[in-house]
Amino acid sequence: MYQNDIREVSEEQLIQFFSTIGEKPFRIKQLNSWLWEKNVHGFDLMQNLPKTLIEKLKKQFTFLVSRIGQEVTSQDGTVKFIFRLHDNHLIEGVLIPSGKRVTACISSQVGCKLGCKFCATGSMGFTRNLRAWEIIDQYALMNQRSNELFDQNITNIVMMGMGEPLDNYEQVMKAINILTSPQGNALSPSRITLSTVGLVDQIRQLADVQFKPSLAVSLHVANNEKRSQLMPANKKNPTHQLQSALRYYHKQTNQRITIEYVLINGINDSLADAEELAQFCRAFPVKINLIQFNSTHPPYQKSTPENTQRFIQYLESKNMVVNLRRSRGEDIAAACGQLVKKKAEGGRRKAEI
Ligand code: SF4
Repeated sequence: MYQNDIREVSEEQLIQFFSTIGEKPFRIKQLNSWLWEKNVHGFDLMQNLPKTLIEKLKKQFTFLVSRIGQEVTSQDGTVKFIFRLHDNHLIEGVLIPSGKRVTACISSQVGCKLGCKFCATGSMGFTRNLRAWEIIDQYALMNQRSNELFDQNITNIVMMGMGEPLDNYEQVMKAINILTSPQGNALSPSRITLSTVGLVDQIRQLADVQFKPSLAVSLHVANNEKRSQLMPANKKNPTHQLQSALRYYHKQTNQRITIEYVLINGINDSLADAEELAQFCRAFPVKINLIQFNSTHPPYQKSTPENTQRFIQYLESKNMVVNLRRSRGEDIAAACGQLVKKKAEGGRRKAEI
């Protein structure tokens, strides 16, 4: 469906096409600038291209784009978007303003195969991978809204929306390369965080490529058996292998790894869980983000304040760097997948799908 799309065409194919129609090669540079730097969504917006060339491009290629279908603003300022893709599938993205930063949370797949028990996206099943340009469209559309709403560009990107980014490795890496390229959006690689459930082979693969984003691992429980129950992907990526892959990632990149840990009452918030987490993290430098569970996904519940404090105190007694994060945008269904699933009940809506 998308093979003939302008953003799927290789540089070689473009050179050949431009040569066939007798156009000068510098026009390719202009075209690429409109596509990847200015992120326009239509041939007619490419102002410095001659009309005759635009007509030839339209005749030869499709130009599939995503659009914002719905926008919902939380009381805490978080803004969530449902994007409608060219084939009418829905994905979601989030803008999170915080001080001088605006972080964009971006999706990598429509749905997800991995079925984590506490995750709304996991219960939706998997539809398809996103193409690199569909990942970039989320950035471009939200960056425009960030400027309109907060008067500033997006400063950070987290690949933490719908889907497992390392399960769509090739297209995610292609998108990150374009987002960080001087011919693309020229973002700093250190401002992009790729969040994974812990796919061991792909973490090792990522450790060996030249360009590396920051890595966050959604660990959520360090005990192997419990993790397999909560996160089925752990069966193929057991914790000892994950620990070894993360040690390798640190060795290759010298990066500190972020461990994401959603505290769920009675599931992973005991002292024994904290001990196992500390044990897991001994193998490499980490920053631990403890996240309060968004209780809108039954039967799981938020950890009690007492359990949360005991958990934090134990980790701090082991000299670990720990941050407690409040779940943002709870009033508009914060967890990934919930916005699409619930079609944003509540909250203030900007536009309807
Ligand atoms: S938590 Fe992430 S990996 Fe697990 S089901 Fe949800 S989207 Fe997929």
